[in-house]
Amino acid sequence: MPVYKEVFSTLNENQYKALVTPTANVLQILAGPGTGKTRVITARVAYLLCEEKLPPEDVIVTTFTKKAANEMKKRLADLLRGCTPKIDLNKLFIGTFHSICVRILRSFGKHINLDSRFKIADDTDSKQLIKRVLQDKFSANDKVKDSDVNEYKYFISACKSKALLPGEVPQDLSDKAFEDHIYAYSRYQKSLEDNNLIDFDDCLLLAYKLLKKYPQALKNVKHVLVDEFQDTNLVQLELMYLFGLNCNGKVTVVGDPDQSIYGFRQAEANNFYRMEEHYVRGGHQVTKVQLTENYRSTDSILRFAETVMSTKQKSKREPKKLNSNTTQNTPVYFDAYPTNKQEARRIAEDIEGLTKSYKYSDVAVIIRSAFLSRMIEQEFIHANIPYIIVHGRSFWELKEVKLMVDFLRAIASNVDWLGYSRSLEFVVAGMGAKSLENIETEFNKQRNQGHEGNVYRILKRFIKREMVGFNAKLREGLQSYVKTIHKARHILKDDEGSMSELLGKMFDRVVKDSNLVELVAAKKSKGKSEEDAKNEIRENLGELKNQLVTFAPNEEILEGENNTASPFLTQFLDSIYLYEQNHYKQSQENDDSSGKVTITTIHGAKGLEWPIVFVPGLCDGILPSKYVLQETNKMKRDAAMDEECRCLYVAITRAKDILYLSYFAETEGFYYGSGERKPLSRLIRGSPLQLVQQREHKELSGEGFASANAVAKNFDKYKSRNAQQVVKAYTEFSHIPVAVPIVFTTAKKMHSKIMSGLPQNRLNPATGAP
Ligand code: ATP
Ligand code: MG
Repeated sequence: MPVYKEVFSTLNENQYKALVTPTANVLQILAGPGTGKTRVITARVAYLLCEEKLPPEDVIVTTFTKKAANEMKKRLADLLRGCTPKIDLNKLFIGTFHSICVRILRSFGKHINLDSRFKIADDTDSKQLIKRVLQDKFSANDKVKDSDVNEYKYFISACKSKALLPGEVPQDLSDKAFEDHIYAYSRYQKSLEDNNLIDFDDCLLLAYKLLKKYPQALKNVKHVLVDEFQDTNLVQLELMYLFGLNCNGKVTVVGDPDQSIYGFRQAEANNFYRMEEHYVRGGHQVTKVQLTENYRSTDSILRFAETVMSTKQKSKREPKKLNSNTTQNTPVYFDAYPTNKQEARRIAEDIEGLTKSYKYSDVAVIIRSAFLSRMIEQEFIHANIPYIIVHGRSFWELKEVKLMVDFLRAIASNVDWLGYSRSLEFVVAGMGAKSLENIETEFNKQRNQGHEGNVYRILKRFIKREMVGFNAKLREGLQSYVKTIHKARHILKDDEGSMSELLGKMFDRVVKDSNLVELVAAKKSKGKSEEDAKNEIRENLGELKNQLVTFAPNEEILEGENNTASPFLTQFLDSIYLYEQNHYKQSQENDDSSGKVTITTIHGAKGLEWPIVFVPGLCDGILPSKYVLQETNKMKRDAAMDEECRCLYVAITRAKDILYLSYFAETEGFYYGSGERKPLSRLIRGSPLQLVQQREHKELSGEGFASANAVAKNFDKYKSRNAQQVVKAYTEFSHIPVAVPIVFTTAKKMHSKIMSGLPQNRLNPATGAP
C-alpha cells in the first residue's frame, strides 16, 4: 500500500474532511497553530496527484519560505513512496509567491515587454536608484538623507503591494507631497527598466500585470494551494485568483489570522474574508473547515499562548480553544536576569542540562531581532554548544558577501551596470566617481542608440585607449578586473566536472584574482587583528560558496553536451534576493540532522516546531520593539502593538514540550542602547505571568536580583498596594538598594519620593508604563 494511504488514515475527522473536500469547492482551513494545517495541505497535494491523477506540473503550491517548500517536498516524497506510476515531484510548481512569479516572468515576460534576462534588484540597488532620483529632482548640492530614501521606498513598495503602477495610484488629496512621491515612483521605475532590473515587489506586480494580460500562460493549472495564507498581501491574493483562473477557482488555502506577522509588508489578514466574498460572488461553493486538535504543544503552552492573545491583543478576535494531544505537561518557565549576558549564559547551561534527554537539534532560541543573537552566540561558543543561525538580511549585508555577489552579477551579465560599478569601485585602485561616470556615460550612450549596452566591452575599449580618460595605472587595474571576469566565464564553460564543481572553481578563482579578502580586511579590521578579520571574511565567503555550489546539480557534464554552468549562476543570483529572509548558515540539506541548536528570528521560525523553545528578551523595547513603542500615531501604534503580540504568539507556539521565557533588565556589550534599563515586556505582564513557573536562581541571589523575578511575576499585585509594597516593587525592579528605609507613612509620599529619585525611563508601578 502506498504510504500516503496509511498517513490519510491517521488524520482526525476534520482533517480528513478537509482532505477529501470535492475539488470543485473552494476550501478554506482557518485554524490555530499545530493543528495540522500544513500536514493537511501536503496530504491534499498527495491526494490530488495520486487519487485525482493531476499531473504535478499542473498543481501550484505556495509556501511562505523556501525552507518550507523544501520541507513540504520532502514530506511529499515520503507520502508518495510506493505509488505507481512514479510521480516526478520536481515538476511540481512549488515555492514562494515570489519564486513562482519569477518563473512565470522568465517564461512569458515578453507579453509585457520584459526582457527575460532581467536581474532582480536587491535592497541596496533599489535604494541607490531612489537616491539618484531624489538627488536629481530635489537636491542638486545637498546630500539626500537615508531616511528620505527609506520613506520613498516604503511608499513605492506599498503601492506595488496593492498592484498599482505610478499612473494608477489614486491621488491622496490630503498629502501635499503626493505629487513628489508619484514622480519619484515613476522615475525609479524607469531607471529599473533602463537597467533591465525588477525589484522584489515587481516580481509580484509584473507577474500580476502579465497574467491579467495573458492568462493563457497558466492555462493548464488544475489546482492552487496556499499555505500561511494570513500573510498574503493584496497582490498575492489577486495572483492567487489569476493562478486559479483557468481551473475555475479550484483553490485550497490554509492559515491562521492569529499568526499574521507581515503587516509591515502590507499583508492583509482580511484576505480570508475578501477571498470568500470573491468566490461566493463568482458562484462558487466555499467549504470551511475548522481544526481544533493541537498535535504539537502541551496544554500549559497552549493555555499560556491563548492568554497572551486574549488579554493583550486589542483588535477583535475569536477565542480559540485548542485541545492538546500530548500527555506530557511541563509548566511554562519564566526567569528574569540582570543582563542579557546572564540570560544567555543561563540558556547555555539549561541546554547543556537538557542534553540528557534531548538532542541539540531539538532546541531553538527564538528572538525578535537578529542583533540579539550576538550575545547568545557568544555564550554558545563559550560553552561549546553547536548552533546554526537562520539569517535575516544580515549575512547578505556583509561587505564581502555583497561584493562577491556584485562580482558574480558582473560575470553573469554584461548589462548589469550596478554589479559592475560597485565591484569596479571597490577592487580597482583609483576608480572614483568620476571614472565610473565616464564608463556609465558610454554605457548609456550605447543604450540610447538602441543597443543593449555592454559594460565588459566598454572596459576593454578604455583599456585599449580607444576611449580616453584613464591613466596608465587605472588601465592596469581595469585590465586585471576584466581578466578576472574573463577567466571566471571561461571556467564556467569548461566541460570537465559537474556544474557545481565548476561554480566552486570559478568562485575560488574570483576570490583569489580580485584580492577580495585582503581588500575587505583592510577596511574591516577595526578592533581586531587583520588576520582575524581575514579569517572571518574567508569564512563568510566560504558560506556563500557553499550556497552557490549546493544550488547547482552535482552531475557530471557529458562530453559533447552543449552545457555551461552560467544559467545556474543566474538562478542562484535570483534566489538570493527571493529567499534572503530564510537562509540557513548551513546548507539546506543537513539542517535537521546537523545536531545543532537553532537560533532564529520569529519571522524565520514560522510554520516550524521544536521540542524545546527559548524565547529570551521579553522586554519593552525588544518585544514589543522600541519602534512600536515610539510610534506617535495611536492607530498605527495599536495595530503595530497587536502585531507584536502575534509575533510573541508565533514564537511560543513553536514549542512542543518545554517553553522557557525570559527577561533581562540591561544589555551588555556592543548593543545599541546598552546600559539602558528595560522594563518587563507589557505583553506578558499580568494574566500571562500568573501561568508561569519561576525557577530558583541561587547563583544570582548574591547579586540582589533574585527577587526581581518575584516582582516581575507579581507585578500586578503590587499595583496600588500600600507604600511598603510600592517601595519593594521599586527597589527590586529598579535595582535601587533594597534597604530603602521605610520611614514614610503614606503611600502617596512614598510614591512621589521615589518618583523624584528615579531616572525617567524606569517603570511606573501604578500603571506598568515606563
Ligand atoms: P502552524 O500554524 O504553526 O503552521 P500547522 O497547523 O501547520 O501549524 P502542522 O505543522 O501541520 O501544523 O502540524 C503540527 C504537528 O502536528 C506536526 O508535527 C504534525 O506532524 C503533527 N500532526 C498534525 N496532525 C496530526 C495527526 N492527525 N496525527 C499525528 N500528528 C499530527
Ligand atoms: Mg503550518
